[in-house]
Amino acid sequence: AEVAEFAALKSTRGVDVYDPPSDPHRPERLSLMSELRAAIDADALELFFQPKLRLADGQVDAAEALIRWHRPGRGMVPPEMFITVAEETGNIGRLTRWVLAHGIAHAAELIHAGHSIRVSLNLSARDIGDPGLPDRVAELLHAHGVPASAIALEVTESAVIGEPEAALQVLRRLADTGIDMAIDDFGIGQTSFAYLRRLPVRELKIDKMFVQHLATDPTDRTIVRSLVELGHRLGYQVTAEGVEDAESMAFLASVGCDHAQGYHVGRPVDFAAFVARIGARDPG
Ligand code: C2E
Ligand code: CA
Ligand code: CA
Ligand code: CA
Repeated sequence: AEVAEFAALKSTRGVDVYDPPSDPHRPERLSLMSELRAAIDADALELFFQPKLRLADGQVDAAEALIRWHRPGRGMVPPEMFITVAEETGNIGRLTRWVLAHGIAHAAELIHAGHSIRVSLNLSARDIGDPGLPDRVAELLHAHGVPASAIALEVTESAVIGEPEAALQVLRRLADTGIDMAIDDFGIGQTSFAYLRRLPVRELKIDKMFVQHLATDPTDRTIVRSLVELGHRLGYQVTAEGVEDAESMAFLASVGCDHAQGYHVGRPVDFAAFVARIGARDPG
């Protein structure tokens, strides 16, 4: 699935698609990691922005920041691959600090340009084990003059299952700063709604696995309709990710889903292209 996007990136940006090594223990990984550390230090990473559309009125009022690494001579490395390597080699904290600093700086630019766009940033499962995270996020917001309401943080469903109380405390302290927390990839894991209710979460993002085939799959329509309804009854905002066609978007609007994100709304693009898009649609 994600290959499609990189194929698209290849055609739009003229870069080669990186071919991930199949054996996870190849020395290749070590060099990948040292190059990634160098890329972080040299600011050679980039955040792309994918619009989120509010289905009630068709406005783009939010965006998800997605990390991109163009590895010199090797093309675009899929984020899932280098994030996994960063997690396994103890470098995810470094990467997340880079994402937070740059994501919040971009949010500040949007605010100062007069846009009201909330920026969602992704956390890795390991990040919520870091008790220093909430203070670091608060300091960045303060330094850039960004209100907490302009940011959301996404944590995958699997990251929060069975987490110790310490990780739940990190989530609560983040939420206490006024940042909205979102559960990513919702529906594919084991989270019960009973457990979910203990988490300080405002938004559920229905995994694209259930969304991509809405136009043709009646079972997926039943699942998504139920997730939206149950989510709303429990007070969550609901986003569908992986919206790839107009039929799916119309279905989501008809069941009252709050936000749609996916190639049909817009592909992830670099910050300048994202600003050009929202500027054209919603001046000021
Ligand atoms: P995710 O958070 O679930 O992000 C959504 C992924 O789906 C993105 O892939 C996005 O480009 C892709 N996507 C968006 N719309 C569509 C669509 O309509 N159809 C299909 N098939 N795919 C769509 P991407 O950018 O390759 O990122 C993959 C994963 O890497 C993310 O999944 C997230 O788990 C992780 N990731 C990306 N950026 C960051 C980051 O800054 N920090 C961390 N910790 N993880 C990140
Ligand atoms: Ca996400
Ligand atoms: Ca997701
Ligand atoms: Ca995912």
